[in-house]
Amino acid sequence: MKISLILLVSTFLMMLNCEKPKEEKTINTYIDEPHSYAKPNEAVITHLNLNLNVNFEKQIVSGIATYDIQNNNASEIILDTKYLDITDVQVDGESTSFTMGKMDETLGQPLMISIDEDTKQIAITYNTTDKTEALQWLNPQQTADKTHPFLFTQGQAILTRTWIPIQDSPQIRITYDATVKVPSELMAVMSAENPKEKTEDGIYHFKMKQPIPAYLIALAVGDIEYKAVSERTGVYAEKSVLDKAHAEFSDMDKMVTAAENLYGTYNWEQFDVIVLPPSFPFGGMENPRLTFATPTVIAGDKSLTTLIAHELAHSWSGNLVTNATWNDFWLNEGFTVYFEIRIMEALYGKERANMLALISRQDLEDELESLKDSPNDTKLKLNLKGRNPDDGMSSIAYEKGYLFLRTLEEKVGREKFDAFLKSYFKKNAFSTTNTEDFIKYLNTNLLEKNNITFNTDEWIYQPGVPDNAVTVQSDAFENVENTLKKFIETNNIDVAATNQWTPQEWVHFIRNFPKDITIDQMQKLDETFDFSNSTNSYITMVWYEQSILNGYHGHNVDAKIEQFLTAVGRRWYVTTLFKAFKNSDRVDEALVIYKKARPNYHSVTVKSVDELLNYP
Ligand SMILES: [Zn+2]
Repeated sequence: MKISLILLVSTFLMMLNCEKPKEEKTINTYIDEPHSYAKPNEAVITHLNLNLNVNFEKQIVSGIATYDIQNNNASEIILDTKYLDITDVQVDGESTSFTMGKMDETLGQPLMISIDEDTKQIAITYNTTDKTEALQWLNPQQTADKTHPFLFTQGQAILTRTWIPIQDSPQIRITYDATVKVPSELMAVMSAENPKEKTEDGIYHFKMKQPIPAYLIALAVGDIEYKAVSERTGVYAEKSVLDKAHAEFSDMDKMVTAAENLYGTYNWEQFDVIVLPPSFPFGGMENPRLTFATPTVIAGDKSLTTLIAHELAHSWSGNLVTNATWNDFWLNEGFTVYFEIRIMEALYGKERANMLALISRQDLEDELESLKDSPNDTKLKLNLKGRNPDDGMSSIAYEKGYLFLRTLEEKVGREKFDAFLKSYFKKNAFSTTNTEDFIKYLNTNLLEKNNITFNTDEWIYQPGVPDNAVTVQSDAFENVENTLKKFIETNNIDVAATNQWTPQEWVHFIRNFPKDITIDQMQKLDETFDFSNSTNSYITMVWYEQSILNGYHGHNVDAKIEQFLTAVGRRWYVTTLFKAFKNSDRVDEALVIYKKARPNYHSVTVKSVDELLNYP
């Protein structure tokens, strides 16, 4: 049975209504929220109905958002907006005046609407503007098939307010339905029950009946098709990508089964993936029922599908049990990395899992190094008040979060740990939790119960990595390191030793080049393994990084790096390469490329690279 917090609260409120109506306002369900203007303890949205038109010529989404609300005797309801053009507001069917508060560069503007205690519904008519940060409008040249335009949204962390007026806090869960009109040659899909074929009139109806936070509302529109992998899993992509994506993700159903065997039922019925054009800023975004994914994970050999396991894991950690505020982001991501690696272990064995754990550890060490001047940002629990929540989306939440949970697992034993996690997901399903509640739950249900002491507070509230962090061993990676060492010493590469290497082993090999590797050695490796032309985007990315850092210019690699940076908008890849330019005192070259690439990037990638390169 699934009962949301809001339903429980509403039942409670109804009870209070009958008995002691005066005390309603003393109920505090929602905790302090640094990144939303909404005051949900006073008036909160519970259901959204969207009626939207997507206009590619004007690059505007316009329409009406109608909300069911729950009113705790408030005289006003406040929604978050940013760069929206609000043209009309109705309260229970009648137009009313509204107030827009002061504009804040990060948070946007509060939209304040007068209501009375009987108000059940509000409706807002609006248009998006050319400043919207969630939407990316792509021209045909920026797509795979190059014949039709494309649109996608990215809501996390606080961008949904730039395309829908909403109470944009992860604590506030709503159900939604939508009617979306798009040009008839295109298909629309959302984080909801989705169509499998195009309609003739370009009108699509959606329903999301499980309550979700605003950042998980998502829309993509393009010339896409659907191909099922199994009854409950499948792929959406442009025509020229569909078969490749389908083959790449053919283990999706096995992943769902493996995940369910670990931590309980998959609660969202359908698990589909849409492969977006290459400007998509993330590896993937866990929009419920429909993960949004970068095409750079299609390697031809399923080697990068860890990403799918990651987004699937979010169906529990993040989507089912959501971080209360962005200060608790590690609850979303640390758990998800842990769960993702467990899924990969279930499917492909311990050695693969250990490789992933070691790559995670190296990512963590790199991040700790890059944050050495801001140690507070290396704590799991953050304080992002007054900052953009995007600032907290570093590897710390992911990889330090993972290391904490993995260390905890080794301390208490897998069996107990799995039972604990399963009960944690079940208890908090379709609800929100924060760091403090998690610690309490951990103490009561795992540590005290089993008489175990653990330095949880040090892990969560202190910078860096505690001494008791578990060390992971990988024989495969040890072999890689030995092969590399021998090559550096002798200039002879043992090709036979590399024959069976997975892309993860290649990535480990390349990332661990010593600082004094010579240009000749780089040249030799490129001649032998053709890294500059690898079809695996992860290998290419780390090779390009090393080429930049070591001043390697062979095999036309500079042109390839430029080509890569102008075609791909995945933030992790792009910032890694621009950072390498910066660390090699080659910012001028980086800026020349960035000026060409920038129009192709989504706003979240633009923001990161602007900051990195001090642009403009
Ligand atoms: Zn994630």
